[in-house]
This record gives sequence, structure tokens and C-alpha cells, in this order.
Amino acid sequence: MRDLNAVGRIGIGERGAVTRLVFSIKELRSRQLLIHLMRQAELAIRIDPIGNIFGRFDSANTKAPAVLAGSHLDTVIHGGKYDGPVGVIGALEAVRTIRENHIPIHSPLEVVCFVGEESSRFGFSTLGSSLVAGEVHPKDLTNAVDPQGTKLADVLSGLGISSRNLHQLQRPSKSLKAYLELHIEQGPILEAKGKRIGLVTSIAAPSRFRIVFKGRADHSGTTPMEMRKDALVASAHAVPGKVELAVDIRSTSAQSKARVVRRVKAQARTIARRRSIGVAVLNIREENPVPLDKRLLRVTREICDGKKINYEIMPSGAGHDAMQMAKITRAGMIFVPSRRGISHNPLEWTDPDDIALGAQLLMETMVRVANETP
Ligand SMILES: [Zn+2]
Repeated sequence: MRDLNAVGRIGIGERGAVTRLVFSIKELRSRQLLIHLMRQAELAIRIDPIGNIFGRFDSANTKAPAVLAGSHLDTVIHGGKYDGPVGVIGALEAVRTIRENHIPIHSPLEVVCFVGEESSRFGFSTLGSSLVAGEVHPKDLTNAVDPQGTKLADVLSGLGISSRNLHQLQRPSKSLKAYLELHIEQGPILEAKGKRIGLVTSIAAPSRFRIVFKGRADHSGTTPMEMRKDALVASAHAVPGKVELAVDIRSTSAQSKARVVRRVKAQARTIARRRSIGVAVLNIREENPVPLDKRLLRVTREICDGKKINYEIMPSGAGHDAMQMAKITRAGMIFVPSRRGISHNPLEWTDPDDIALGAQLLMETMVRVANETP
């Protein structure tokens, strides 16, 4: 909790809101703090070109594939202190505890902090883990621009990552045994059911795109209200010449997601035609729902049963780095309850006892997986 609170003080503002946008000074400082903590824990640190940080604790068998655990330290604008850091600091604490107690492990353990999990700045989520999974393609970067007009592709090229070598960060599958992520639930289910742990079965994937309606800027005094029929126009002070909608559609079913995406895009075109205005649909991200590893789920389940922990088996509506990592290794996720289901908000809160329980479960899972015979 001390380390978690130290991370939470970086980028803290009014009413306890935390802002650490990807590649901002605050986010860099949080990564620097993590490097410091990893160094104190005597982990071997590796930082890849985008800034993903890997802290490795070697077992006797240095050649064995590693058990990786972590999450992210970047936040949305005016977010909370637990979304992301719980998984990074939780993994660090797990490895420190394993080390302090001389728990024997067969495979090396690695703690990871992925860069830019949140989409707040460029509309591009799970940036660091997508690069590690080899899931970023040049076309994905076309429409990723921040509100200041900075292109993600330009930021990446400043780090030596160009469309030609996007795959240089990809981690070979054979170097990994599993990826585990502890995260706050970001929903109200665990609290409502009185459960302390959520074991995640699958992650709903988003389709993200922007719809740009181009009309004509008009005088608000002379253009009659009855000509502005939708809520957006009705509530606007001026008649806007251009309106952009950010659309995010998610599902754990690829088929139903595709159906809704098709309908929304068709509807946008119909509305534009009816109002004689232009419309453009700019695709940002198109991802498929990701099932998590059943064997890892069984391991976490067995540990919970053995310790009589009250758990819930559930899908994740929010996206996480685990959905990228699942493409190159077995991936599992552990949720801890979010008070009132609130996240991406300064009111985000998880009981320290639940965080401790989640970290304990993460640690025991890491040990079990590290010692599994392949
Ligand atoms: Zn998160």
C-alpha cells in the first residue's frame, strides 16, 4: 500500500484526481519510481524502445520461459489511483515476497509495466502490450492523433519505432510461460454479490471509430430551432459546422459486436443523407474478444477453494493488457472489487484488504505456474 500510494501521488490534482497521460512527464515519473522500486528489489531491469519495463527475478533455470505479471501505470484524465498500479505493484510485491521467503521456483518471474494502456490521449488502447504481442500494424496508427494534433506515429518514430520495424518489440511466445494481471473490477458486480475476488473468463473487445458529421456553421439567432432536431444541435449554443462522435462498441461475442458496428455506421450515413450533411467514418481500432486461459483459471480457482475465498467467475467488459498478451501466451486475470463500481474517476476505491488478498492470490498463482511441469 505504501508503494501504491507513492505511485498515486504522482499526477495527483484537485479532489484527489490522478492524471498520468501516456508519455506525459507525470507518467514518465511513475515509470521512474517503478524502476527505482525494481532496483531496490534487485530485479534485472530491461526497458524496450516504447518504454515497457520488465523486472526479472531469475530462477535457477534461467533458460525456462518466464511467468510474467503486471499491468500499466498510465491513467485517463482525472482518473483514480488503482486502475493499473494495483496490477504492477501487486506483481512487484508478489515477487518480493517470493524472494524474501526463499520460495523455490522453476521458471523465472517477471514484473511488467506496459506503456499506454489507456486510450485517453490517442484513442489507442493497450499500446505497449499490443507492440509486445506484435499486434500493431501501420494502418492502426493512421487515425491515432491526440487533441493537440500530435500523431502517435510521430511519437513512435521519435522512439525509433517506425512502420517498418513495428515488430521489433514483439516477444517470442517461447520466452513466456504465462501472463497474469491483477486489476480492479471497474464494475459493481463483486461488491453487489459480496465477493472479494473475480476470476476472469474472457475480455470483451472494442471496435472504436470516429464519426464526423460535416454540416454548415450557421448563426444561432437566425437559424430556427425546429431545423435542429437532434439533442446535440438542440443543446448547442451555436450551430456547429462539424461534429465528431467517438464510438466504442464492445462485446465478448465478435458476431454481435460486428452486427452493432454495421448498424451504427449505416445509421450515421442515413442520418447524414436525411439532413444533407457530409459524414465520414474513421476507423481507429477493431479488435476481437479474447478468451483467457482455462488452465490458469483452474489454478486460481483451486487456490481460492483451498483458502475458502469467496470468488465470482466473470467476463471483463473493459479491455486490458491481458487481451493482447493472450495472443502470444496463456493469459489470466484476477479482479478485486471496485467500490460502487466506480473507475476512471477520483472516487475509484478498493479496500486495501482486498488488494492484499488479490496480490496474495496473484503470488500463489505465479508460484504454481512457475513450478508447473510443461
Ligand atoms: Zn487498467
